[in-house]
Amino acid sequence: MNITQLQSLLELQKKDLTLIQLKKEAQGIPDRQQKLRESAQGATRQAEAAKQQVRECEAKIKGIEVEVETAREQVTKYKNQQMQARTNEEYKAFEKEIATAGEKIGELEDRELEEMGRLDELKTLLAHSLELQKTSEAKAEEEVKDLESRLLIIRSTFEETKAERGELISQIDSEIVERYLVLLGKKQDAVLVPIRQQSCGGCHMKLTPQTLHDAHSQQKWTYCGFCGRLLYDPGEV
Ligand SMILES: [Zn+2]
Repeated sequence: MNITQLQSLLELQKKDLTLIQLKKEAQGIPDRQQKLRESAQGATRQAEAAKQQVRECEAKIKGIEVEVETAREQVTKYKNQQMQARTNEEYKAFEKEIATAGEKIGELEDRELEEMGRLDELKTLLAHSLELQKTSEAKAEEEVKDLESRLLIIRSTFEETKAERGELISQIDSEIVERYLVLLGKKQDAVLVPIRQQSCGGCHMKLTPQTLHDAHSQQKWTYCGFCGRLLYDPGEV
């Protein structure tokens, strides 16, 4: 082990960690795009539900209007029959029917007014939902595109870093590179770590005096007895 080898291995690790991070980010992009599309679909579903509510309220009002119309026709019919009443009782009976029908019309008209008020509210809600749908879709589309561009950047950075890494790796002793790669494959994180306050910079366990001695002597590569990471003295680099 010498300083140049250590520095090269540290440089290699930096590139490898960049590659791992870029790969992770690239793998997460389809999911992020899917989530953006789903959130826009959520706004679309909300707008559809608001439209449905408006349609139902309009149908209800229409139904009430038909009922009012029918009751009015009934009143006209009763009035005609009343004119032809032969007895006072018959006349009074029609009068009662007419009054009942009149009350019913009044109640129906109250309900209609209530529903019309609700329709106004629902229409306002629908307008908001449609606006939200429009902005959500536009935003999702834009962010999906941004992620697409980011993916292209990731790919080119990845290729560049890989090429630089290839050059570096040829300059390092193959035996240590192999051990380093096995460790990296397992940890998917930094495996060449500094000694800090007599502890491993990876697992933070207190190192034995022998390990510390070996690491400081710089005669050979030293490993953490707990996590197996390669150790270096940060004062050396
Ligand atoms: Zn350790």
